[in-house]
Amino acid sequence: MAEDKVVQIGKYKVKVIRDLCIGAASCVAVSPDTFQLDSENKAIIKETSKDAEDNIMLAAQSCPTKAIVIVDNETGEQVWPV
Ligand code: SF4
Repeated sequence: MAEDKVVQIGKYKVKVIRDLCIGAASCVAVSPDTFQLDSENKAIIKETSKDAEDNIMLAAQSCPTKAIVIVDNETGEQVWPV
């Protein structure tokens, strides 16, 4: 299985755990500039995202399966899910 891709956005490193993603698309609704569904109905992260960090955090918190993981790039700490 391929490693889940990590994308750096602002001070966050963000990834979607594909095995957990059920294609609910709440992340896309909250943060459409950052997340989109691919052909397998799994969320992928757009490298060109200009969404604010707070918005990306909200999108991660909206995910029903906690498939979006956010790590603070400065501290190395996982800030979501906690
Ligand atoms: S909200 Fe979660 S389950 Fe739904 S598409 Fe986004 S990452 Fe996948």
